[in-house]
Amino acid sequence: MTARGEGAARGIAILGSTGSIGTTALRVLARQRARFAVRALTAFSNAALLEEQATAFAPSFVGLVTSDGCRAGWESGTDCLVAAASREDVDIVLNAVVGAAGLDATLAALARGKRVALANKETLVMGGALVTEAARRGGGEIVPVDSEHSAILQCIGGRPMSEVRRLVLTASGGPFRGWSRERIEGATVSDALRHPTWLMGRKITVDSASLANKALEVIEAHHLFGVPYDRIEVVVHPQSIVHSFVEFVDGSTIAQMGVPSMELPVLYALTHPERAHDTGVPPYDPTELSPLSFEKVRWDDFPALQLGIEAGRRGGSQPAVYNAANEEAVAHFLEGRIPFGGIPRAIASALSALDGVPGGTLDALRSADRAARIHVREMAGC
Ligand code: NAD
Ligand code: MG
Repeated sequence: MTARGEGAARGIAILGSTGSIGTTALRVLARQRARFAVRALTAFSNAALLEEQATAFAPSFVGLVTSDGCRAGWESGTDCLVAAASREDVDIVLNAVVGAAGLDATLAALARGKRVALANKETLVMGGALVTEAARRGGGEIVPVDSEHSAILQCIGGRPMSEVRRLVLTASGGPFRGWSRERIEGATVSDALRHPTWLMGRKITVDSASLANKALEVIEAHHLFGVPYDRIEVVVHPQSIVHSFVEFVDGSTIAQMGVPSMELPVLYALTHPERAHDTGVPPYDPTELSPLSFEKVRWDDFPALQLGIEAGRRGGSQPAVYNAANEEAVAHFLEGRIPFGGIPRAIASALSALDGVPGGTLDALRSADRAARIHVREMAGC
């Protein structure tokens, strides 16, 4: 057991340290060394950058996940992510892995009573009730990193949920906001990777173009804040300055605003409910970044959004099927095997083929996840 006295630095594990969120986190943490100590880092394949980070932050655990499992480079073990997330010297696990691969580590950290600063939204979409139950039983807590959910948490400001009438998540609309349905259908990989306001990993950038990302976020909000789906709405806001709104029962609406940078939401997930000094993040200047605009979602032209919300409403294994089918379809799109319009078609087909498949246990969710991936692979002719 590591002794941690009053005022000692809190230990952080960063899962996915070489990615967009992981590198943002290390940039932020370099200015917060008195408050936080980086104790564990993990990454997938990118050994050179991981080594550089390990030299700069001197963590006690470094794990490189390879396609064959966990390489015993710095630490041995069968699962780097779970090993890093379970360490005694780690208080907060920043899960910045992309996709369903992050699930076991989230569960392990929550079961040990740790805070999970959650960027890996796929974990909550796939495991929903099981993840929130693991937090309740283990005494851990989930604090969102996603900018919309960080905004909602800040807007709620500790008030009871009985005072909240509606959550309104903002969406930039992605690179295809003004495109016709026909043009979206045939969009190329480089079109989809050209996000207008956020620089992120490839998978979430494609999800932002299809609006599947917003569906994942609606499901994420449902589980994080316990709000029913008919009280969660989405509005398009191309400037990405208002990160979300919370409407209260008296009709008052509170928004959280800031320049589009993940530095603040990442740091806030570590310091919540406190705020950090000296973040280096430029404040929002209303006269410089003006005007702000809001639009309705074009539901028919971005079918991945409605499909995801419906999967969330149906529950069971459907959110896990939605997530896995989307992950698989995005990978096929990025490899040039299916058109952009093939992503929502693959998701719809997997959801209907696997309707009624049970999802009450971790094993059931894993097998639904596998079945959805196989379904999409077969559709793509692999
Ligand atoms: P990314 O692709 O840039 O980085 C992913 C990281 O996870 C890398 O370090 C990679 O090495 C590691 N990784 C990938 N597959 C892995 C596996 N199978 N096992 C272990 N490690 C693996 O992705 P990102 O944009 O940083 O996104 C990470 C997560 O954060 C995603 O769930 C995304 O939806 C969420 N998120 C990202 C942003 C953003 O601005 N990038 C914003 C909100 C939420
Ligand atoms: Mg988001």
